[in-house]
Amino acid sequence: MSNISRRSFIKRTVAAGAASGVILSGVNKIAGASETGSNKVGTLIDLTKCDGCKGQKVPACVTACKSKNESRFPEPVENIQNYWPQKKYENWSDKRDLTKRLTPYNWTFVQNVKVDGKEVSVPRRCMHCDNPPCVNLCPFSAMEQTPEGTTQVNPNVCFGGAKCRDVCPWGIPARQAGVGLYLKVAPKLAGGGVMYKCDLCYDRIKNNQSPACVEACPKGAISYGEKVELRKVAYEKAKDINGYVYGDKENGGTSTFYISPVPFEKIHKELEKQKATQPNPEAPGFPTMPVEVGNFLDTANGMASAVLLAPVATAFAAGITAYKTMKGKGEE
Ligand code: SF4
Ligand code: SF4
Ligand code: SF4
Repeated sequence: MSNISRRSFIKRTVAAGAASGVILSGVNKIAGASETGSNKVGTLIDLTKCDGCKGQKVPACVTACKSKNESRFPEPVENIQNYWPQKKYENWSDKRDLTKRLTPYNWTFVQNVKVDGKEVSVPRRCMHCDNPPCVNLCPFSAMEQTPEGTTQVNPNVCFGGAKCRDVCPWGIPARQAGVGLYLKVAPKLAGGGVMYKCDLCYDRIKNNQSPACVEACPKGAISYGEKVELRKVAYEKAKDINGYVYGDKENGGTSTFYISPVPFEKIHKELEKQKATQPNPEAPGFPTMPVEVGNFLDTANGMASAVLLAPVATAFAAGITAYKTMKGKGEE
């Protein structure tokens, strides 16, 4: 058995036994999901077109995202408390205007770097992975993958344990404390809020509209459409400009294709340098992932997370069931 197939075997064995099927039970597909992949959508972000909305205080895609999602932003309770085992909580509610990083109040932002003398602006948000570890490893099944291949958080079920962020190679989901189910179930013992991230404007795409950021971009730098088509366009354009594609193979494949005139390894290096000097240590980079690794769950860390999460998931599943039963009996 090769290393990778041995890892896959162990992973599946753990999956079969873990937490009575609470975790690693496969991607949480919303009812009606197609297995054919023919209805999958995606986006193509062309870094040869994006100029970061130079001259504007806030890029148009960021403004559009904020105003489109404003009604879904968290409104936390006034006296947020610490919860075990953390000694602090994450509160972004007094920094709602931040636009240069991901927060529960800002689901996309633009990174600017200089590579080989070229200025490169890179819009960032959830990549919408094909086999999303955030979905697979959420102990509460609060992360879902839609039939169209997008991923989203269910804020009514999310406990804000942030496992989705831990297992996301880009650390995308952002946590806000003082909101969500944990306040009702175990405010001092579990969770820590609700996670927030881009859902590719799922309500809009279900309505045959493009995501708000796509529509708002004055340069046409973000395209939305059928994933199969976008992948084709991405490779054709990359060939034409002697450039690079990111997002097709990383983390086992995603629904977001970046095209760049400079290598992503170089962009990543510059972003890592920026992290050392700028107050956003969590800023996502463009890590290279060996193709044979494929997905976070196939890595040693992914396996460790899965094993560690099993008892936690079981305990909380029991807790949630008890909560629902009590609620049913009016013993809230
Ligand atoms: S993607 Fe478009 S709207 Fe966003 S920063 Fe780039 S040019 Fe501006
Ligand atoms: S980019 Fe991160 S948050 Fe988005 S689907 Fe992939 S693993 Fe999940
Ligand atoms: S797709 Fe929608 S939610 Fe995602 S970054 Fe664009 S506007 Fe925001």
